[in-house]
Amino acid sequence: MTRLADVVAALDALYPPAWAESWDAVGLVVGDPDAVVRRVLFAIDPVASVVAEAAERGADLLVTHHPLYLGGTTSVAATNPKGRVVHRLLSGGCALFVAHTNADVASPGVSDALADVLGLVDTRPLSPLAADPLDKLVIFVPVAAADRVLDAVAAEGAGAIGDYERCAWRTTGEGTFRPLPGAAPTIGSVGGVAEVEEARLEVVLPRARRDAVLRALLAAHPYEEPAYDVLELATVVGSRGLGRVGRLPEPVTLRELTRQAAAALPATAWGVRAAGDPLAVVETLAVCGGSGDDLLSVAAAVADAYLTSDLRHHPSSEAPEGLALLDAAHWATEWPWLADAAGRLAEAVGVDTAVSTIVTDPWTLHEPSGEPPQ
Ligand SMILES: [Zn+2]
Repeated sequence: MTRLADVVAALDALYPPAWAESWDAVGLVVGDPDAVVRRVLFAIDPVASVVAEAAERGADLLVTHHPLYLGGTTSVAATNPKGRVVHRLLSGGCALFVAHTNADVASPGVSDALADVLGLVDTRPLSPLAADPLDKLVIFVPVAAADRVLDAVAAEGAGAIGDYERCAWRTTGEGTFRPLPGAAPTIGSVGGVAEVEEARLEVVLPRARRDAVLRALLAAHPYEEPAYDVLELATVVGSRGLGRVGRLPEPVTLRELTRQAAAALPATAWGVRAAGDPLAVVETLAVCGGSGDDLLSVAAAVADAYLTSDLRHHPSSEAPEGLALLDAAHWATEWPWLADAAGRLAEAVGVDTAVSTIVTDPWTLHEPSGEPPQ
């Protein structure tokens, strides 16, 4: 039996809340952590039609990309649309969980799914974030105790690299010291020079785990005064970040790319509109799910074209020369992520998952204009 707390833990592992922007509101919005969860519905917007769909499908949890309350509230009374959403969720026994900007910068995250449906290959973050900071810990320990000390620091997160754990580099050499009066040496005696065969262990660790790892080191090390160095490693670019940039399977004109994007993304009234020479050839495409007009100049530096949503007149008309723009419906650019997230959650905790197909993009009509004024 899967509890809501287990599902929340799995979602937090996929999309850690610490990755969210400071202004965002992510995590559990409605729900009892002890409640049993069998079915989870994924959707972009926590609106009335989606909550009704969750009830029809018997979902115990609704996971949405957009927050219900972003600006905070002092009331959840059913006197306004958001309050009614809370009431309908509670009366239907359905929890609500939000993964927003923490899913945007995840890898894989929202823009990976968007890049995938557009067929991009060799993708990388458009605006990469620094990798989580690492320390290197160098430990000097008698050879006979080296494994015990390595096990202890590894249990606190040191030596984890990708899908490997307890990774370390080990050399042996000779340590030497003279215990002074008052010392209680494990090896040697007060006043005499001791020479000990010692291992030098080198391990990396997340900087956030430094205190816990050092406590484990001091507890497991046989010496009264263990020798160790903590080195802060240089910052490097990580695999996470906003947007993605990659190559199209084959170069196409902007006109053809616009057609392909409109066919690949879920259908909306908005469709896809483009800015630029229709015959310009596009080889490298940048994408950003959701509102991405603040990455226009970043995209121009690395791509021939940029697909995102909510592009406004001034940033678009002043976009760097040579960058074609594709403006899709906000909902459509984020929707591909839902299936990816649903699949990963089902794999992690074994619940039934489904993806809402209700189009919650606010635009419901689109009529091309006639001839421009003469
Ligand atoms: Zn969005």
